[in-house]
Amino acid sequence: MAQASSSAAVRRDPSDYNAVVMLHDYEYNPSQVAHTAANNAVPREFLTSTGLARLLKGEHGWAAEKIPDDMWYLCRFERGDAPVCFMVPKTYLSIGAKQKVFTSPHFRTNTGARTWIRRTIPATPFMPELHRFTTGCAMGSICKNKNKSANQDAEIRLAPDLKYTISDAVIEQTEFKLQQSLQLWFDITADLSRYPRPWVRVPDVGLYDNFATASSLAMYIDSHDEEADVWTETQIFSMDVLGPVNKDGINTPQAWLKSMKMIMLLEGIQLDSTSEHFPQRAYSVASMQYAEYDHLQQTLSWTDVTHPRKTIPIPKLMSFERNADLLISKFPDLPIGMSQRPDRIYLGSARKACDFCVWNAKQMWQSKCEGDTRACDPCKTYLNRPCTWTFDMRALPESTLDRLLYRRGHVVDGKSMALAQRTIPKPSGGERLMEILSERSEGVD
Ligand SMILES: [Zn+2]
Ligand SMILES: [Zn+2]
Repeated sequence: MAQASSSAAVRRDPSDYNAVVMLHDYEYNPSQVAHTAANNAVPREFLTSTGLARLLKGEHGWAAEKIPDDMWYLCRFERGDAPVCFMVPKTYLSIGAKQKVFTSPHFRTNTGARTWIRRTIPATPFMPELHRFTTGCAMGSICKNKNKSANQDAEIRLAPDLKYTISDAVIEQTEFKLQQSLQLWFDITADLSRYPRPWVRVPDVGLYDNFATASSLAMYIDSHDEEADVWTETQIFSMDVLGPVNKDGINTPQAWLKSMKMIMLLEGIQLDSTSEHFPQRAYSVASMQYAEYDHLQQTLSWTDVTHPRKTIPIPKLMSFERNADLLISKFPDLPIGMSQRPDRIYLGSARKACDFCVWNAKQMWQSKCEGDTRACDPCKTYLNRPCTWTFDMRALPESTLDRLLYRRGHVVDGKSMALAQRTIPKPSGGERLMEILSERSEGVD
């Protein structure tokens, strides 16, 4: 009985779902709850280490089905790439209005000065609280690569004074078309902590203070194939993590700087001064609107926010000595420095390189782990810090990210970008709150 109604629920029209919010934290053992047909569908990766399914107070979801005895609801919550169904007792839920479809004429994207909408995505056990910035854009400016006339890069103006170039490799893989309207969105963690799968992955300790802040941002493009009526979400990554090094041997951390500038633009952050790496104190938006979304009531309101909204000290270059001290205090148990390189038993038979060089090799860099007693050349040049030696590289979150990326589809080893794609439901419901583009007005430059 429960089995039949559960599977029917999944096929129901999404507008039948009621918004729900968790009133309390809730953990349960899926195999011990009566309605096992739904619970067996909870993927293992969403269970805790002790095999419990976990939901947190305040999480937003959807009641997909009321189980006949009225004590339980089959609910959908966002987990990773897709909604997952969980059985939740009625007493743990606040049940609100039915799902609404939001459409919006809020995108006026006829110039580089563009309108952005920010909304807050509540934390889940697998993702910190996020600020999601959405705008409409079109592949308006696809320019011929000067050296290879067959290839094309595409330029998106994030702001009049900040452009983003999507490489030809990505264009080919995504089949984005000229003038196709797209939804561009960025996620930035609300506390600027590391995003689980960021646009650029950098270590905690590096050239600048608060180095990992650049890894708080992720970039996505949603595109619609009109013939097949299929929406595709494409996550875009930077592959050039920290290069290139100029002829004086100094690293210009291009991707790191780009990420920091995008964060400045979207969060309305102004620097207190300028430098060679940060020639502008701030970047401009035409309009930033904060969408306040009441999940239970299914209402949406808008507030115009003036930018910039706060001033912070300019990021500071770290000295080698300060980075060495920081590494020792952050990782007191880790061998630090080239001279501290552990023996083969500790590192494993195949490994000779330091943490950063192993990590680099995964990102398709050529790097030789040689240098002086404190640092190999890559650590010195790109991070200005000593080498570190982690016992089990699989414990590094980066390797988890790589596995996730491969599992999710494909990675393009283009010159500067990688991407992961998946098909998504039509982005029209309150569940994802994706606004429908009403215009395709971004002109060709
Ligand atoms: Zn090395
Ligand atoms: Zn090193």
